[in-house]
Amino acid sequence: MTIDFRSDTVTRPSKEMLNYMMEANVGDDVFGDDPTVNELQDIAAKLFNKEAALFCPSGTMTNQIAIKIHTNTPGELICDELSHIYKYEGGGIAFNSGLATKLLKGDKGRITAEMIEKEINPNDIYFPPTQLVCLENTCNKGEGSYYNLEEIKKISLLCREKKLKLHLDGARIFNAIVESNYTAQEIGKEFDTISICLSKGLGAPIGSLLIGSNDDIKKALRIRKLLGGGMRQVGYLAAAGIFALNNNVTRLKDDHKRAKTLAEELKNVNWIKAVSPVYTNILIVEILPELDINNIIQKLNEIGVKTAAFGPQQIRFVTHLDITDEMLERTIEVIKKIKL
Ligand SMILES: *Cc1c(COP(=O)(O)O)cnc(C)c1O
Repeated sequence: MTIDFRSDTVTRPSKEMLNYMMEANVGDDVFGDDPTVNELQDIAAKLFNKEAALFCPSGTMTNQIAIKIHTNTPGELICDELSHIYKYEGGGIAFNSGLATKLLKGDKGRITAEMIEKEINPNDIYFPPTQLVCLENTCNKGEGSYYNLEEIKKISLLCREKKLKLHLDGARIFNAIVESNYTAQEIGKEFDTISICLSKGLGAPIGSLLIGSNDDIKKALRIRKLLGGGMRQVGYLAAAGIFALNNNVTRLKDDHKRAKTLAEELKNVNWIKAVSPVYTNILIVEILPELDINNIIQKLNEIGVKTAAFGPQQIRFVTHLDITDEMLERTIEVIKKIKL
């Protein structure tokens, strides 16, 4: 048995999801003719109480489209230094939108209105005009941490006062929603655009959505086309997204519970120095300084437990819908038996 904790992107579509996909009605989505894509976009827009949504191949594309439609050159965006849009999207902020980036040092990836306000550039020809603020919720590199709604509201208010656009990288927004006390509609109200991923914890094989106003999504459609993201009979994949939104949101709580259980058990393992607090479905453990991380990851791999390096002495475990209680028990059992 291989138990894959590397990421919540490793899930495979279930039988039920595959059956649902195979029965989709499809059409040419570049002509706007695919009924299943249109249905998915409607569901997503309604969920966040926005006017429209656009189905895209990846979260990188939805984020990069959002950055492009909200800005022009010369300009600057503000985000946390751990942001996916900055660290893991290949330099797309500069490549696609020609912007400068102001990085803030937040708390596990979370920034505050107070921090942002200090970094808005004055209207002065020396500085690129600040145009956009991007938040990430949950924060991937912030160990799955999530925002509280009060801070988001403060940031949103500041952005409106200062005439800045506000985008949410919500690749894992549903992990934040099931763990906190806010709803998708409350989130939708505070942001101009929201990017969500269907292929992370929700278990679809592919797909992300950009959600926003009719005007913004119309602009996004043009950018998606020129990036080569216009797809044809893509309703089969959109169907997976509909299935995921209908069936796999509330169960994210189970992933969070399993990550916490694993954390508790790993605290007693003698080669683990520290276990970080678990916010959602991401668990980070720090190994003893004298150990070689690649060796440990290799040893875990040999006993069927796949993990990923997170930092110099840190290993990441991500729980997801293909990790069962039985797999969790087995993981704990074999990890406790490892001799180093
Ligand atoms: C995974 C992820 C994305 C998008 O990734 P793709 O692989 O391009 O779909 C964006 N933001 C965050 C925080 C992510 O974890």
